[in-house]
Amino acid sequence: MKCDPNLYRAASPSLAVKPRLVRHLFLPPLIIAMMIGLGYIGFWISEHYGIRSLGENGQRQLELHARAVESEISKYTYLPSLLELETSVSQLLADPTPEHRQRVNDYLEGLNRRSRSRAIYVMDTTGRVMATSNWRDVDSYLGEDLSFRAYFQNAVRGQPGRFYGIGSTNGEPGYYLAHGLEEHGKIIGVAVVKVRLEAMEERWQRARLEAFVSDENGIIILSSDPARRLKSVVPLSEETKEKLARSLQYYWFPLNELQPLARETLSEGVEKLTFPANSELVSDDENISYLSQTRPLSDTPWNFTLLTPLQDLRREAINQGILVAVAFALCAFLLIAWNERRKVIATRLAAREALQEANNQLERRIAERTTDLRASNERLKGQIRERRHAEETLRRAQDELVQAGKLAAIGQMSTSIAHELNQPLAALRTLSGNTVRFLERGQLDVASTNLKTINELIDRMGRITASLRSFARRGDDKGQACLGKAVDAALQLHGARVENTPLQLHRHFEAVQVQIDQTRLEQILVNLIGNALDAMQAQPQPELWLEGEAFDGKYRLRVRDNGHGIDAEARKHLFEPFFTTKPGEQGLGLGLTLSASLAAATGGHLGVEHPSSGGTAFVLSLPLVSLTPAEPI
Ligand code: ADP
Repeated sequence: MKCDPNLYRAASPSLAVKPRLVRHLFLPPLIIAMMIGLGYIGFWISEHYGIRSLGENGQRQLELHARAVESEISKYTYLPSLLELETSVSQLLADPTPEHRQRVNDYLEGLNRRSRSRAIYVMDTTGRVMATSNWRDVDSYLGEDLSFRAYFQNAVRGQPGRFYGIGSTNGEPGYYLAHGLEEHGKIIGVAVVKVRLEAMEERWQRARLEAFVSDENGIIILSSDPARRLKSVVPLSEETKEKLARSLQYYWFPLNELQPLARETLSEGVEKLTFPANSELVSDDENISYLSQTRPLSDTPWNFTLLTPLQDLRREAINQGILVAVAFALCAFLLIAWNERRKVIATRLAAREALQEANNQLERRIAERTTDLRASNERLKGQIRERRHAEETLRRAQDELVQAGKLAAIGQMSTSIAHELNQPLAALRTLSGNTVRFLERGQLDVASTNLKTINELIDRMGRITASLRSFARRGDDKGQACLGKAVDAALQLHGARVENTPLQLHRHFEAVQVQIDQTRLEQILVNLIGNALDAMQAQPQPELWLEGEAFDGKYRLRVRDNGHGIDAEARKHLFEPFFTTKPGEQGLGLGLTLSASLAAATGGHLGVEHPSSGGTAFVLSLPLVSLTPAEPI
């Protein structure tokens, strides 16, 4: 079968290789770029929403803790104004005698103990401390001039004095609440309560909260982290610094700025601050970012700031980004694998389809060829039938021809036959006439002799006609004969003669089947063996060879003797009817003629050879019968 080249044609190399090359060159960098891009987007989204969530949470914390700070501060708001009601205080301010002072000192000491404030003291309008709760202490405020304090200056003007500062006496920080004491609409002195707010810082530390409170100057006055304390959250000009230093509000502490590395305002009061690594505020190796949420504290010019560290969020966002990148890489890998698999399946399907198509074509062609073969088989069968018919016709014609040939031969022989028969008839007529006369004369012996001769002549004539009748008989030209059996039968027929001579018989042939009637083969062999025996009559050591060989679909049997041979003149007439060299009644001269005719009638041949060693050899050639006859096609 021829394969259809279209079915298996490969794609042209330029078309097949280029896209693959492009894919292999650009796909990995593209995937890596997309991994990085998507990873960053994942990181950004995670951070953004994380900050938002932290912000919401932080807002609640901010509110909670800011309120706690407000309540802590407001607790003492009205305490200084209560001293207005105390008559001993107004007496002291009006008349500052040691008795009056002592009375107020005792009163303030008791009040301070009960209110758990740091100190309570009373100043006159010049700013001198007239009485104080810590009058017993070595670093007592008693007699100190605190007129430079802003809270005094505000309070003496009738305004509420709110002030966070570091004590000039003992350097202790505190929240000062001052109130101008009025009598008859006139300010006679100032009452001050100093409060410690460090308890709040401890509370924040315990809650692991990072928070601070910055005052009206932007200075951190309270912080969960002591390192941030007294740092400025806003840039301070040299002039401001000078002014603050002079006010001694923060004692002599240097007011450094809390300098973030980066500051990003997210919304009002919400910032993202990044502090550099290994700074005095950050002991870590890496920069730290905070979400800073600030809210003003009511009744004060202060701000409360809550710092939420963003490292965990950032780490989480990085993890999310990596996760997104890895997920994308996995998806891309799965997609590529799926695509490759799809292509493999598609190729397999295409190959299977091509194979199926080729198979279908093959089957179609086989079906066509089978139909053709069946048709040609039918034609051949028809031809075989025709040939058989023709063969039959031919055989019949051949038979007819043989028969006609035989009859023609007999016709040709008719003159000879007539001559052969007329002679004995003429002799019979003469002999019978003579016999009648001899009988009349009484010569019975002679008559008897004549009658014997007449008998012999009749026998001869009978034999001639029998031979001719046998020859002319129709229908004996077919059949099969066994050569061995025919030879045995012929030898048996000549049995007496064979036994009476010292004949040496050489049998060298196979017991084959030949195509001739068994009787006719025996007839031929009887003739040939008889002639050989006749020729060897004078031979003291007669030898007869029966040699066979298969040749070209025929079997040749050579019947050779070491008799007298045939002279040159006789050789010319051997196969002529009635030619004989045998004396008297011994030969009819029909044996070879009829044998040759019988052999020819079955497709065979009878020939003669004259061996140089002497004697004669007759070669009978007959068609071999195949034991397994093949059906002719
Ligand atoms: P017949 O035997 O009646 O003579 P054949 O036709 O058989 O007739 O033989 C014709 C003649 O051929 C014989 O008379 C003989 O002279 C010669 N002939 C046949 N066979 C042999 C033989 N084997 N050797 C010598 N001569 C033979």
